[in-house]
Amino acid sequence: MDTADLFPPIDLDWQTKSRRRYAAAVLGGEADRIPVDPMMLSHSTVACGFTIRDFYEKPELGAHCLGYVQQLYDLLPVTKYYFAHPWMPELGIRLKFMDYTPPVPENIVVEEPEDVDLLEVPDAEAIQKGFTFTRLSRAYDYIKEKLPTMFVPISPCPEPEGSGAGLCGIEQFLMWTMTDMDLALKLVRKYTDTAVSGAEALAKRYGMALLTTGSVLANSDIMPPETIDRIAADNLEYLVKQALTRGAGPQVFYHFCGNHDNDYHLFINKIIYSPLTIVHMGYHGREVFPAELLKEAFGDKATIMPSVDTKRFIVANPKAIYDEAERQIIGGRDSPKGFILGTTCEVPPFSPPGNILAMVRAAKDHGSYGTW
Ligand SMILES: [Zn+2]
Repeated sequence: MDTADLFPPIDLDWQTKSRRRYAAAVLGGEADRIPVDPMMLSHSTVACGFTIRDFYEKPELGAHCLGYVQQLYDLLPVTKYYFAHPWMPELGIRLKFMDYTPPVPENIVVEEPEDVDLLEVPDAEAIQKGFTFTRLSRAYDYIKEKLPTMFVPISPCPEPEGSGAGLCGIEQFLMWTMTDMDLALKLVRKYTDTAVSGAEALAKRYGMALLTTGSVLANSDIMPPETIDRIAADNLEYLVKQALTRGAGPQVFYHFCGNHDNDYHLFINKIIYSPLTIVHMGYHGREVFPAELLKEAFGDKATIMPSVDTKRFIVANPKAIYDEAERQIIGGRDSPKGFILGTTCEVPPFSPPGNILAMVRAAKDHGSYGTW
């Protein structure tokens, strides 16, 4: 059976409404309420009776499940298909598909400092034959054909410094950030340039590519602010400038994963803001990053995406999610460039639907335009 034959059609009336909602949050305009984006990936396949592994192993199926479940929960008007560790196989990393997690890297490719110079950055043409582009384009070609109204290609580079670290192993990398910063920076730049080639190749094929990036390993629990400034903030500026110059964008999504209480300010004036930029921040210490602070720091530059704690989604307590969503919405819903309600990181694959729907309910009750 064809993948597309497994799903009922997308309701276009729903989609129009959802699209208006998303446009209002990013560009302004009229809509019913603020949008909700729980950063769903493999929850979509699980919710349709498939597996976590299926999401990564079968891009067409993963993409269709995403589109279908976005509608089911009344979330985003687009599929937003991408996956972990993009562009790493292009530098020699072997990814192993797992049953209960995203694919995991099996090897490292940098053992000695000299190995960094030996890494060859593929150009946009070479990258089209690689693991990442092939899988992403399978998903996006499929969406374009089967779910054309939900089509937005994503150019992923979710964690430039974390992926650079994955090339040599995290411990080695953290050691280099303390003993040989230039080497650590050179390694991250090799990965970043590979991701830029990927962005260029995707933009060439589809005419655009929503750039999704941010920092994950570079957070206040792991590194001092001086290190984050160089390894993450400076490099993000470079990455986004390069990717936009080569045709990616115009949308940019920044996901700052983990705790950023002592470093969020470093990014404010350094990252690049396209006219369609969303800034998302995970935690402030052990708590969710407060919507008020996100609004104050980034609200005049970008759409903000405050979060509900992802950890809550595996606990049988929808009300706790509703309450946190309510606090975050009230704290940031009047942000000048718009508000999207998110989760601190990808919503866990086995989240009960009642928990995800608690966010949507909070968005209706407290995020309806004209009622505050
Ligand atoms: Zn994350």
